[in-house]
Amino acid sequence: MERAGGGCYAPRMTSSISPVGEPARMAGGKPALALYLHIPFCSSKCGYCDFNSYEGLEHLVPEYTPALVRELELWAPAARPFHVDTVFFGGGTPSLTSLDDMRAITAAVRTEYDIAPDAEWTLEANPTELTREHLEGLRALGINRLSMGVQSMRQDELELLEREHTPDRVVQAVEDARAAGFDNMNLDLIFGLIGQRTEQWQESLERVIEFRPEHLSCYALTVEPGTALYYRVQKGQLPDPDPDVAAEEYEWTRERLARAGYEQYEISNWAQPGRACRHNLVYWRAEPYLGFGAGAHSFFVGQRFANLDAPNRYTDAVNATVEARAASGSAAMQQIAGGETPDDVTQQADAMILGLRLMEGVALDEFATRFGVRAETAFADAIAKHTRLGLLEVVGGRLRLTSRGLLLSNEVFVDILPDPPEE
Ligand code: SF4
Repeated sequence: MERAGGGCYAPRMTSSISPVGEPARMAGGKPALALYLHIPFCSSKCGYCDFNSYEGLEHLVPEYTPALVRELELWAPAARPFHVDTVFFGGGTPSLTSLDDMRAITAAVRTEYDIAPDAEWTLEANPTELTREHLEGLRALGINRLSMGVQSMRQDELELLEREHTPDRVVQAVEDARAAGFDNMNLDLIFGLIGQRTEQWQESLERVIEFRPEHLSCYALTVEPGTALYYRVQKGQLPDPDPDVAAEEYEWTRERLARAGYEQYEISNWAQPGRACRHNLVYWRAEPYLGFGAGAHSFFVGQRFANLDAPNRYTDAVNATVEARAASGSAAMQQIAGGETPDDVTQQADAMILGLRLMEGVALDEFATRFGVRAETAFADAIAKHTRLGLLEVVGGRLRLTSRGLLLSNEVFVDILPDPPEE
């Protein structure tokens, strides 16, 4: 994401609601739109986490919620031509938000946007502080999908990751969520942990399968620069994760989850039939979404842009935008840190890389209709090379990763990325 150093970026509003590259999936007779709301607060920062999340900033919450509501109001006129069919609260730890604040935010979403009656409303939750009462309150507010960060069912691994919860806490939280009426749950897990033996991963996954979640996300650990884990590895206190162990665990996971009745629909995501995450499919199919809150990203009317990361700067900027609009009627969205209108080549590469993450792959005829060029022409070299290497295949008119390609997807994606501009 380009950043317009210190300035504010105003996305161009056009009368077109389906520019080239942004497919118009219809919902309720209008183009569909997804909403993402970011809650950046956490009770503690996990060692591996490079998300836009902060510990010790709870004192900002009383100002953050009203700013989020104001930002929802600011964007509402531009979103009027759209029908919203997924709403996603991500973080950070959205489950830390009080029910009163959640009531204010969900009311603003419903008042300001055209929301599908059967919309998917997901909330990310941390098992540490989830209570039955809070879960019942969320369900009553219309949250109908819960995504819980479990990561591991082993205490030693949770400590390595600097997670605050215990395996017993996960058991209780899942039980409470079911009792509160959540019948659509995702559980997040991380494999390929430092020092992990494959049997240890198998133990965690077997325990999680017993919960019969509707959806599972299993990601390999990556040591991201700037995280506490990164510095521990840099200082030699911990070894790097072993990619061979991660590959072995991934293969086993694919086989085990298929046996357990889960369909793999994305490189790292599995669901019971009909329970794929509708919100995340919007990202992978490169469809439009609007993001609200600190650091939230958007892809809207053909433009990609992102909000300021720091919660206090975001809050001040939203308030400044509201004041400026009250004074002059129109003013740029000052909370937007930067953005770009991706050119055709970038949009095509995005659609390929995101689409290849899905097991369904990229529908070649649809790609041609959307971009006016065939993928086989635009990415001829990359497709030929990786088909020859056994990483890509065409099945039923769709280009997709092979089983081997799933393990080596980054090698394919690197060759699809457009060349960086010359200096
Ligand atoms: S709870 Fe999630 S968002 Fe918060 S620090 Fe941990 S991994 Fe990051």
